[in-house]
Amino acid sequence: MYKNRPANITEIERSATVDPFECTTEEDESTDTQDENEPFDNEYYEIFEDYYCPDSDPFQDANFTQPINDSQFLWILLWIMNFRTRFNLPGTATESLIKFLKLVLTEIGGADFDEFPDSLYMAKNILGLKEQFHSFVVCPKCHKLYNKQEVKQFSQNANLSVMRCRHVEFPNSTTRKTKLCQAPLSQKITLLNNEVKIQPELIFPLASIRQQLEAMYCRPGFESSLRHWVNRQQFDNILTDIYDGNVWKTFKESTEENSDIFFRPDVADTHLGLIINMDWFQPYDGTIYSTGVLYAAICNLPRDIRFKRENLLILGLLPGPNEVSLHKINHYLAPIVDELESLWGGVTLNKTYESQEGKNIRAALILVSCDIPAARKICGHVSALVACHRCEKKANYENRKHNFAGMDDMREWFISRDADEYRQNALGWRQYNSDAARKRFVKQTGIRWSELLRLTYFNPIQFITIDPMHCLFLGIAKWIVKKIWVDEGVLTPDILKKVQKKMNEFKVPSDLGRIPGKVDCGDSFSNFTADQWRMFFTIYATVSLWDHLSSNDRKILNHFVRICLILVNRIVEIDSMKEAHQRLIKIVKLIEANYGRDKITPNLHLSLHLCECAYDYGPLYAFWCFSFERMNGVLGIVFFVSYLKK
Ligand SMILES: [Zn+2]
Ligand SMILES: [Zn+2]
Repeated sequence: MYKNRPANITEIERSATVDPFECTTEEDESTDTQDENEPFDNEYYEIFEDYYCPDSDPFQDANFTQPINDSQFLWILLWIMNFRTRFNLPGTATESLIKFLKLVLTEIGGADFDEFPDSLYMAKNILGLKEQFHSFVVCPKCHKLYNKQEVKQFSQNANLSVMRCRHVEFPNSTTRKTKLCQAPLSQKITLLNNEVKIQPELIFPLASIRQQLEAMYCRPGFESSLRHWVNRQQFDNILTDIYDGNVWKTFKESTEENSDIFFRPDVADTHLGLIINMDWFQPYDGTIYSTGVLYAAICNLPRDIRFKRENLLILGLLPGPNEVSLHKINHYLAPIVDELESLWGGVTLNKTYESQEGKNIRAALILVSCDIPAARKICGHVSALVACHRCEKKANYENRKHNFAGMDDMREWFISRDADEYRQNALGWRQYNSDAARKRFVKQTGIRWSELLRLTYFNPIQFITIDPMHCLFLGIAKWIVKKIWVDEGVLTPDILKKVQKKMNEFKVPSDLGRIPGKVDCGDSFSNFTADQWRMFFTIYATVSLWDHLSSNDRKILNHFVRICLILVNRIVEIDSMKEAHQRLIKIVKLIEANYGRDKITPNLHLSLHLCECAYDYGPLYAFWCFSFERMNGVLGIVFFVSYLKK
């Protein structure tokens, strides 16, 4: 079925020696050798792995105050929260610290600090952390969710006991009884006063989307901000925002053929479009402890406030210490998808700022905009090393490495994948009854089940964009400079010294930001961030590199600089978009011809889908992850402290 398909994908994923941003973080779990495939016609054929989360108390009504994010003392509170985690301060110590600071501040600053909180509770309120979360206990082995009270109060023979996980990964296996997970969900702790306490191993804090929306709708001006897109100016052949994209213009209210368009003026402030993002970060310096945040932005809001903290919906915090692997993420997605399903059907907000009688609203998830490994994990696509998730292109396996070369017959493989076929395959994956069988199926089709597919309107091909920040800057810019020009001896250490010298002569306005002098030291261009790669190519590269490049490399540089300048624009003409696409094709062809087929990485291939994403969602600026990532630091500190510490 696949041309040049390698015998074993797992082997490639392991042996791959590519840039980390090209890799997915998918780890291969050890295969149980006894996990043999069973015949399909057993009596449990129709039973699938259950990702549903347990019932829990309903979220409380949204009557909390809004976070005061422009507060002048927000930074002080953030510092305290950070300090608290860093030195593992108990709640009472933090409380004293806050009270003392309030005393000092009012003594010095007087009435300016009347609003400064005098308790930890109030501080959390100001940071917008009050009662927004439900906590589930998570099985550390299989990630099944459990009701927290049930775990904490579990007892045997009238004694509090450690509850064990009851999850069965393969309920359709004839030997399923022996396949109970059995991992302990908690620890038993004896306190100083001999009291016994049950402490859950891992907690998954989940936030209610509806509740957060209810709070937002009570803010003055929020509803009119949701309607702003109706009255914006429109131009032919120019992409200014997500509303110029095909998805916004054509997304239907229901799956029926002649149903209305979902996003239309008369429901501008009640039909919402959501962009979802997931990021992993390390909240502690110097330790390997990853935690993941899932959050969503509301597309109806104007771009300048769309990604602001107070307008983002926090969906959940995935606990560490390691990233959840592959399909196990479905346990966390399940409750979120439940809520998205009900939002698609319509929910009633009790009260909004404009309407005391409340309002019916609906919402649809129209875009998953994460880095490539995260997007694939959420949506059930196989690693980017192996196949493209948007078209039929599969990696070639040559010289014990994979590549996406083959630009000569580009037309033949640039065929969009079929969303219906994808769904069929994902359902197929669920029917397998052993790990080994599932793996074989993934090797064949590149597809796993994702809970997002329960959303009937969700298109698992079109709704997953290529994040331009990761693709262009951390992917291609870095690849061209480091893996092609430096590794192939085009930019030698001597030349890099000259490049750095030239760059030092640049006088750039301070608001453009300077790139620290690290081009020629140690590992050249070490630790450049995406933003620094962007600046390097849009400001420095042409002048500092030109004299040192051959005519073909100058062409590559020229094309790439022009592509960056076009694609980072907030408003893009469709003609410029076409130009960028043609130049991307030229770059890939030049690299393939001059540096060999194995230099064609997944990112180089994926960049050829960037323009198609822009036709679907407007200029890259409208949906890229820059905005999400910048707030991650703050989120990391605040949420981690408040919820995982409990
Ligand atoms: Zn388990
Ligand atoms: Zn493709």
